[in-house]
Amino acid sequence: MKRSKGSGHAEAYQPQAFDIAREQFGMETALRRAIDRGHLRLNYQPIYDLASGRLVSFEALARWRDEAGAEFLPSDFIPVAEESGLIVPLGRWAIEEAVRRLAEWDARFGGDCGVKIAVNLSAIQLQRDSITPLLQSALTTHGLPGSRFTLELTESALVTDPDRIAGIMHGLKGLGTTIAMDDFGTGYSNLAYLQKLPIDILKIDRSFVTGMLADRDKVAIVRAILSLAQALGMQTTAEGVETNDLAQTLAALGCTYGQGFVYARPLEAEDAYALLENRRH
Ligand code: C2E
Ligand code: MG
Ligand code: MG
Ligand code: MG
Repeated sequence: MKRSKGSGHAEAYQPQAFDIAREQFGMETALRRAIDRGHLRLNYQPIYDLASGRLVSFEALARWRDEAGAEFLPSDFIPVAEESGLIVPLGRWAIEEAVRRLAEWDARFGGDCGVKIAVNLSAIQLQRDSITPLLQSALTTHGLPGSRFTLELTESALVTDPDRIAGIMHGLKGLGTTIAMDDFGTGYSNLAYLQKLPIDILKIDRSFVTGMLADRDKVAIVRAILSLAQALGMQTTAEGVETNDLAQTLAALGCTYGQGFVYARPLEAEDAYALLENRRH
């Protein structure tokens, strides 16, 4: 343990490390149970076309409320899921749940409800599981085309075995899905992959977007990503759009889509569906 080196505090830190390990183990056990018992759910955050203001999709974001009623966010449990391997059943559940939900929305709407759902895929999940046949079978079960779904991958997926991930991405594209590179600008610095992989959308990480109006460096980075995407024929989504001014500026800069608290926080499925119904009127 680096911090305790030579400080005489080594003993003080060890029980703490032990507690953290035990807490993680407790969370792992609880998370496994939650997955088995169906205690996870997806919330849906709307994504808008910035030029027209049209609602185009929802990003599915996992939520977990434990038996005592405490609500956990992905930042609490996704790392635990990745370390323990639970990301595989969690990720399978998320894909099947998103497909089932969109089919339900279509049925209630009386036809194609006009939006896509975007599902997050973890790098570790992609290494350990075969996502393409799983998605294909969910699509067949519910009678939906792959073109109704976007898959969000992060650059970390490309680090370990880029050729294998490229194969998976081509397989997913073969189902008609859209592929988005999530948190773009925060990961891998070798941009060569952008030429080789079938990426449709760059999602600009919210660390560059939120607060960019007061920060010329952030504006420079956002502009650079937008022009890179345009040159490569890709679309862009800005995450973390928290104000109207920001939405207008991003639209003026040519960003395709926007997502953030100015429009809506991630919504319960029922509230997300209500947005679809409102749009009809
Ligand atoms: P992400 O994919 O980059 O998702 C966007 C995150 O930004 C969400 O956090 C969303 O609530 C938050 N956000 C959206 N708009 C704003 C805004 O205007 N301001 C601020 N401050 N935040 C905003 P959330 O739901 O906590 O999810 C965090 C991350 O957890 C996600 O980041 C994604 O990487 C991961 N995640 C969520 N659900 C899943 C899942 O089902 N599978 C996997 N593998 N990862 C997931
Ligand atoms: Mg995402
Ligand atoms: Mg993101
Ligand atoms: Mg992000």
